[in-house]
Amino acid sequence: MHSAADVTQLIGNTPLLHLRQVSEQTGCTILGKAEFLNPGGSIKDRTALGIIRAAEQAGELRPGGRIVEGTAGNTGIGFTLLANALGYSSTVVMPITQSKEKIDTLELLGADLHLVPATSYADPNHYVHTAERLAADYAKKEPNGAIWARQFDNPANMAMHRDTTGEEIWRQCEGKIDGFVCAAGTGGTLAGVSTALKAHNKNIQIGIADPSGASLAAYFRSGKLQASEGNSIMEGIGINHVTGNIALAQVDHAFNISDAEALPYLFALLQYEGLCLGGSSAINIAGAVRLAEELGPGHTIVTILCDYGNRYQSKLFNPVFLNNKNLPTPGWMTI
Ligand code: PMP
Repeated sequence: MHSAADVTQLIGNTPLLHLRQVSEQTGCTILGKAEFLNPGGSIKDRTALGIIRAAEQAGELRPGGRIVEGTAGNTGIGFTLLANALGYSSTVVMPITQSKEKIDTLELLGADLHLVPATSYADPNHYVHTAERLAADYAKKEPNGAIWARQFDNPANMAMHRDTTGEEIWRQCEGKIDGFVCAAGTGGTLAGVSTALKAHNKNIQIGIADPSGASLAAYFRSGKLQASEGNSIMEGIGINHVTGNIALAQVDHAFNISDAEALPYLFALLQYEGLCLGGSSAINIAGAVRLAEELGPGHTIVTILCDYGNRYQSKLFNPVFLNNKNLPTPGWMTI
């Protein structure tokens, strides 16, 4: 009999999906790694599992212990599911501006959820700093201790993507891959996948797709953090400081992608290819198109399909919300 022993074994080994329209448009083969198929619905299940396994091995996470994390939501969903499966507790700190659907999902899963105002990273009440403080409080009072997962700086994040996401892409492409592009939230995916692919073939071109208002495209071009014009409605990506994980990324091309550039890919994918994705996937696909244009026809480029669109139905697929932000809506989307 073939069966998975537990939910951890459902994480990863996701397929690569041929993205037809953008491949035809560019003359390249553009492939998306279907991370929305993970049990928690996003690529961040891998991060949560990687951080848990590393903390167990280091003896920091003890049986029955608590995992505390600041998150845009998806990592929190991963930690909550894995804590249940592995006998831990979890606490999730999240900015209140994240989608209602992610908040609802965390409540459904029974997360110990702390919603905080959206503030700048410099503010001590930022969700990341709040998580660090809460973890220290819990560590004192919980019988089995508590850890702060610190996904932004924890090298276990990129290590998991290096050893799983990156190696899977290399194997699935049978070495025939010319480029990889993705956006960065913590930078774990970008650092891990770029490290794995460059170790196999240093000529593979790595690109970052940076949403409006984020600073990393400028950082990789010039070494200076400089926020790009505008802002973005895409959740889970777009940062203005160099995280411990970003510092390990190997990047050759940096693209600034606006929401207006990315959203039409999202709508066309749903209408013509039957795929309903979240906003970071749209930024990633737009980045893959830009890299394809730089490399020219005939190349194979991989990107990440991070999560599913129903997690953002009230924003990305809501014409009233989009109109209020002056963002494009497809003809079939009626108020
Ligand atoms: N897309 C989504 C939907 C996410 O939640 C995240 C993580 N915050 C990312 C992309 C970015 O991944 P990473 O943290 O590995 O940079």
